[in-house]
Amino acid sequence: MRLSDNIQYLKGIGEKRAELFHRLGIFTVRDLLFHLPRGLEDRTNLKNVSELIDGETVCVKGILSSGLRKFRARNGTWVLQTRMSDGTGIMQLTWFNALYVENTLADLDAEYTFFGKVSYRTMSPEMVNPIIERSGGGSSKMGRLVPVYPATAGLKQKNIRDAVAQALAGLSDGMTESLPEDLRQKYGLIGIDEAIRSVHMPESFDDFNNARRRLVFEEFLVLQLGVSMAKQISKSAKSVRINNVKCIAEFAAGLGFQLTGAQKRVINEIAADLKSDVPMSRLVQGDVGSGKTIVAAAAMFAAAREGHQSAMMAPTEILAEQHYKNLKNYFEPWGIKTVLLSGGQKAAERNHNLKAIESGEAKIIVGTHAIITEKVRFDDLVLSVTDEQHRFGVSQRSRLTDKGAHPHTLVMTATPIPRTLSLVIYGDLDISVIDELPPGRKPVKTVMLSEAQRGRLYSFVRSELSKGRQAYFVCALVDDSDAVSAKAASEYYKKLRDGVFKDKTVGLLHGRMKSFEKESVMRSFAEGRIDVLVATTVIEVGVDVPNATVMVIENTERFGLSQLHQLRGRVGRGAAQSYCIMLGNAGSGIARERMKVMCETNDGFKIAEKDLELRGPGDFFGTKQHGLPDMKIGNFFTDMDILRETRGTAEEILAEDKMLSSKKYAQLKKSITENFSRSGNILN
Ligand code: ADP
Ligand code: MG
Repeated sequence: MRLSDNIQYLKGIGEKRAELFHRLGIFTVRDLLFHLPRGLEDRTNLKNVSELIDGETVCVKGILSSGLRKFRARNGTWVLQTRMSDGTGIMQLTWFNALYVENTLADLDAEYTFFGKVSYRTMSPEMVNPIIERSGGGSSKMGRLVPVYPATAGLKQKNIRDAVAQALAGLSDGMTESLPEDLRQKYGLIGIDEAIRSVHMPESFDDFNNARRRLVFEEFLVLQLGVSMAKQISKSAKSVRINNVKCIAEFAAGLGFQLTGAQKRVINEIAADLKSDVPMSRLVQGDVGSGKTIVAAAAMFAAAREGHQSAMMAPTEILAEQHYKNLKNYFEPWGIKTVLLSGGQKAAERNHNLKAIESGEAKIIVGTHAIITEKVRFDDLVLSVTDEQHRFGVSQRSRLTDKGAHPHTLVMTATPIPRTLSLVIYGDLDISVIDELPPGRKPVKTVMLSEAQRGRLYSFVRSELSKGRQAYFVCALVDDSDAVSAKAASEYYKKLRDGVFKDKTVGLLHGRMKSFEKESVMRSFAEGRIDVLVATTVIEVGVDVPNATVMVIENTERFGLSQLHQLRGRVGRGAAQSYCIMLGNAGSGIARERMKVMCETNDGFKIAEKDLELRGPGDFFGTKQHGLPDMKIGNFFTDMDILRETRGTAEEILAEDKMLSSKKYAQLKKSITENFSRSGNILN
């Protein structure tokens, strides 16, 4: 059997079962061996009945002390019950819907080992649905550490374990070792074959952890090397120098407000990049409302004053329109032509704009990803700005870059991520942080309300509206489908419009509406003609309406922490005190914890750290929101120490061999290329 063989070659895997394996992303024997256990079941701990403690999971060995009782429970479930004794005491055994147990326990004189969780519902201990092994039977379910795999409905742990055992026993080719000997020695990493074997069949917990560490190490190292090499490659190209960056001071002077210290610092960092012919690849991270747009505008201004073009790409039409309006206001007084490209435009208008872009007359081009369609031809694009980067894939980012020779690129994001992680995701970018809000902003007051307090909520919102302010009501995505969420939002909208806010103007915004409808609603809200805006998360990104002071979030438990923070960022943009009110069924678990964090802090970076922490081990849900790459083995939070370690290792390796051209790195380099091309990522 070879690594590349289809898993259907394994005994016990027919077409149907293979499909279940496919659901776990397992197609080949190699995939199977890289499907790592998420933990271990310790079946080495053998105890006497007299020593059993409530709640522990152990093995107990003995003989049956009563016959097997079989009956149907009231709900129809089959129940099997018996008792066992080991000379120190008696334990109750119960199985539900497991009639095979009748056969397994057929020999009433034999000795059996039972593995399960001990409970004390009565005076004597009990195990429910324990695993059984007959002594002297030769098989070895007990006395060892048993891997527990991520599984899927219909696929049992036993199916996966059997398949893995067969693969390990029958494999004719070894794994390819990517890590050179000296590197493994230095970092105490075992070889790949041993690692794969031990991670599935460990002799001890240490054994397992060692094996896992080796595998995570390799995965993280490949990621970090890939990202660093991509950076080197992009830095080796030549860009247009923008020499007159001093003119940015004149631009700033005309703004009507003072730039914050952080904004000035970041503009200086960008200006230094623009003056050089090494292409800028810079990420600007700044919390919602920190004023990223003006920072990008400053750079675009400098480029325009030297006659060059700059483009700004936003993830939604609403946001693109808003940027266009703002940039036009900034640039028109300077005679700099600014155009918008959007999906909803009339053909004539669009063609007119396309011509202006191609001729070079338009210096500032704003749009959604419509900008990266084939039809758009730039005359002289030297700077590309991508707003709210976490919404775009890396490949979209590079397509915009392809429009110019080697334009400088600026990427802006309001999704703060801990530094260690941003190095991983954005390692190919230099990072600037705007860590200061414009003066006069009051932190948003955040509270959590229960359903019983809904009446109070409405009267509070009414009192804000009577001061001339506006409010958002955001409903959660009901599921992944836009259609269902749109319906929920529509119903909620009707309820508010015809009920508590019937004397106010209520608007509705959701992803299913046509772009011109969305724009017109958003415009009405921005101009104060709508008091209450009911919306799905389409408003999450970047929308700026300073007069809105209340953000009400329904079903808060359905939102991730970073998403909640983004939503809250829609208010608190003006001088008045703003409020974020979270409704929902917090329960007791992570949802409650999330809401607590929201009430305690307004600091996006703290929230990001907490967000990762609250996800915990094995839970990758939502990493997409951060733009984190999908890892097969490693976990960015629980394996943070390995992540840091491999960062150092990657630097060492590259210092010694910049392009990994020496023979000992050949295999590692191959892994990097494969990895990065599969995810449509940076190297290609
Ligand atoms: P974000 O970082 O979330 O993209 P924006 O660029 O949309 O933030 O800025 C939010 C608001 O703050 C805008 O109305 C902008 O004009 C304003 N603003 C930006 N910088 C300053 C400043 N230094 N002083 C006062 N207001 C500012
Ligand atoms: Mg913004």
